Amino acid sequence: MDYNLQLNNYAKLIVKVGVNIRSGQTLVVNSSLEAAELTRLIVKHAYEAGALLVKVNWSDDTITRMRYDLAPDESFLVEPKWLAAEMEELVAGDAAVVSIVTSPPDLLDGVPQERIVNYQKTYSNTMAKYRHAVQTHKFSWCLAAAPSPAWAAKVFPGEHADTQLRKLWDAIFSAVRADQVDPIAAWEEHSSFLRKRADYLNAKAYKKLHYLAPGTDLTIELPKGQIWLGGAKANGQGCSFVANIPTEEVFTAPLATGVNGIVSSTKPLSYGGTIIDRFSLTFENGRIVHAQAEQGEDTLNNLIAMDEGSHYLGEVALVPHQSPISDSNILYYKTLFDENSSNHLAIGSAYASNLEGGKQMSQEELKAAGLNTSMVHVDFMVGSAEMDIFGVTEDGSREPIFIKGNWAF
Ligand code: ZN
Ligand code: ZN
Repeated sequence: MDYNLQLNNYAKLIVKVGVNIRSGQTLVVNSSLEAAELTRLIVKHAYEAGALLVKVNWSDDTITRMRYDLAPDESFLVEPKWLAAEMEELVAGDAAVVSIVTSPPDLLDGVPQERIVNYQKTYSNTMAKYRHAVQTHKFSWCLAAAPSPAWAAKVFPGEHADTQLRKLWDAIFSAVRADQVDPIAAWEEHSSFLRKRADYLNAKAYKKLHYLAPGTDLTIELPKGQIWLGGAKANGQGCSFVANIPTEEVFTAPLATGVNGIVSSTKPLSYGGTIIDRFSLTFENGRIVHAQAEQGEDTLNNLIAMDEGSHYLGEVALVPHQSPISDSNILYYKTLFDENSSNHLAIGSAYASNLEGGKQMSQEELKAAGLNTSMVHVDFMVGSAEMDIFGVTEDGSREPIFIKGNWAF
């Protein structure tokens, strides 16, 4: 299918399925100069769908890197309050937010870790209120990606620059179903398939999950009132939206203190502009008591040390090893794609929507119900063709959920 047609399909999907813009609504688009063409199409579709105002916040990967190279140390300890105020005001007024990411996984390679950690802490603290609204799905938001030359070069090394970009666009178009004749109908079908898996797991209400794979032997308890979600979600007003395009996961929240054993990563993780690879985490009563990595161990330890909650898990997500994204055999170095080709877990905060009544609870109430709270939420990939996962019922019987990396039911 023609590039322009697929690009247009992609923009339409983000507006119609992603944030599902309604007449009279304001849309905020956080995007990068690398994605100018896609962003303009998103704006066009939003106005055609009746948006009142579309506000684009442009960034630039080169300028982001420039700040880390040239700004004084104090730059990473201050984040203007008006940035948070702007987002808080917008979402209080029922705005929707689209974010398009383009950066290469190693954008901040060689930057002193202290600068990165300081920035992450400062940003997280400043945006705490907005982040709570994101995590409780108060408003419609959608995260998607577009290739930059630097990212495409990382995914397809050794190819000509034009070929790298074209190949990454093709891979993204296929992963997000923009290459289908009727992409919106394809998404409705996909969303209902994921919802059926979630319904099955909700009916089962397993007490525990047991993960087995080379380098992994992990049990994860699930809280009472667990809710598995997949596909479209409902925002605070009950309007449906899809938070990630693509999405292939069915996920819930673990009981923060109920994780024991060891888990090994199966794909590299790009976190804060640095790559962490071939790592394992050991848990005792939910807490990470040991972490080791062949690459990026300092970054991994800094992530775990962010706050108390970053020592615990906040998400358990099931993704079959055989999925369109996984079958492409491409390592994207971008969590949005890699997490959707692999079973994954997240270090840090849980989603309130994964617990019955959770959306109405305060941070303290969520914590008391067993859900983890943290300033971070970082997915990491643990799935493979060799992974088996069992569900343990209230009476102790074991039922297969995943066999050799794929759904057992
Ligand atoms: Zn996930
Ligand atoms: Zn996640």
